[in-house]
Amino acid sequence: MENIEKFEYVGEKCPICKYDISMCQCMFGGSAHPDRSKRKEVVKDHLYLFSERQIQHIISLESRWQTSYGDEEKNSILKELKGGANG
Ligand SMILES: [Zn+2]
Repeated sequence: MENIEKFEYVGEKCPICKYDISMCQCMFGGSAHPDRSKRKEVVKDHLYLFSERQIQHIISLESRWQTSYGDEEKNSILKELKGGANG
């Protein structure tokens, strides 16, 4: 049973860089891949398209990216969410 699960994991791709999740390139060479920011945006707006594992992967990328915004209102919403207002 465990082997089957591992096999599935290996076959799943990161929807942002299209590499296998275990080989995801999203943490490296960010500015060398200008297309990725658009792709990232679309991916994040359509999480329902992805499997549980892909979503978990995106979540772990997000927590490492620590995205901030040029827009003050968005930054203050983020601050509010981080303060636990979503719990
Ligand atoms: Zn990736």
